Amino acid sequence: MHSHKEHAAAIQSVRWRFWSYVGVQRLPDGNLLELRLCPDCGSTLARPTSVGEQVTLLSEMSRLIGISLSNFGGAVT
Ligand SMILES: [Zn+2]
Repeated sequence: MHSHKEHAAAIQSVRWRFWSYVGVQRLPDGNLLELRLCPDCGSTLARPTSVGEQVTLLSEMSRLIGISLSNFGGAVT
């Protein structure tokens, strides 16, 4: 497990976008947090994000998921 300081630095790292995406969270004040897993300890880390950034990211993920599912010939239930 990393320290809070180590995670705070990791969140600002350019490596952030390569880590496993585990969703987006809306805070009570309406702000959004992107959630990813720390590749070393597995902790869920959060970084501020925007609707536009998340729509772009999720659209690309949806496209890739669709392409991948099509490899099963539509036999997925
Ligand atoms: Zn960590």
